[in-house]
Amino acid sequence: MTYKFFGFDNKDVSPIKKEFSEIKNQRVLYDYLSKIWSKETCAPRLREKWTKENNTVGQCSITAFLVQDIFGGKVYGVPLSDGGVHCYNVIGEVRFDLTSEQFNEKLNYEDKYEQSREEHFSKDEKYQRYLLLKRKLIELLLTKRNENMLVKEDLSSSQEPYMMVISCSDSRVVPELIFNSSFNEMFVIRTAGNVINEGELASIEYGIEHLNIKYILLLAHTNCGAVHASIKNEKGKYLDPVLNRIHKNIGNIINEREASLVNAKKEIEYLKTKFTNKDLIFDYALYDLKTNKVIFDERI
Ligand SMILES: [Zn+2]
Repeated sequence: MTYKFFGFDNKDVSPIKKEFSEIKNQRVLYDYLSKIWSKETCAPRLREKWTKENNTVGQCSITAFLVQDIFGGKVYGVPLSDGGVHCYNVIGEVRFDLTSEQFNEKLNYEDKYEQSREEHFSKDEKYQRYLLLKRKLIELLLTKRNENMLVKEDLSSSQEPYMMVISCSDSRVVPELIFNSSFNEMFVIRTAGNVINEGELASIEYGIEHLNIKYILLLAHTNCGAVHASIKNEKGKYLDPVLNRIHKNIGNIINEREASLVNAKKEIEYLKTKFTNKDLIFDYALYDLKTNKVIFDERI
């Protein structure tokens, strides 16, 4: 891409905050902003003039202060013939203007009129547009980060998870998200009430014998529908093997949190009798839906 904005060929500036580390210089920021400058972020008095081709119109001050958030430095203004001021950035010895392309003539950048954030943002309308532009930039960065994660490596030849998690199928209990893990890290088995029947044993055997997983965690959770249904003696068409198994595990316990823990403990004890290799580590924990925390030390 060829750049035209004033200062694109100047020395590169670098982000001052880690959260913007992908924005390596002013040209990278220009690329991002080109995707998010819009009629909505344009100053109302210039909205008529804004087009996709002329997308820097009405974006100068909110852009310059956003640039300052990312690269530091100062914001200066060039007085315009219509009485307005056009903002640009000065960072150390580097001067650039990401929104210069809206003007046909070259502006006189003299660094005379420093602009204050307080003064510009005393107009709430402008401040809201600045927040919108900043939010759009952060959303774009997050989307890019997720995309990068998805294509980080070729995983087609083999899988090498370092742990196994057996959890409930509950849509609020997503092991990969709870443990902030990515592809090829966790071998996950999900089943209503995190109970282990024949089918689950087959998956567990595969994980242990063929993927060589040593750490097996059974992740129970609070407010579990299967545990609740079991306590209430509910019946279903095909649910009974699950509910009966939980019932057998928890006996007469009616406190659901306690029942979830006991159910987890009994299931992990059952697993220990099925897979007796000495180097396996079996563990269980409770995921608390209220606090979003995994509790390892709550024992009964
Ligand atoms: Zn559940």
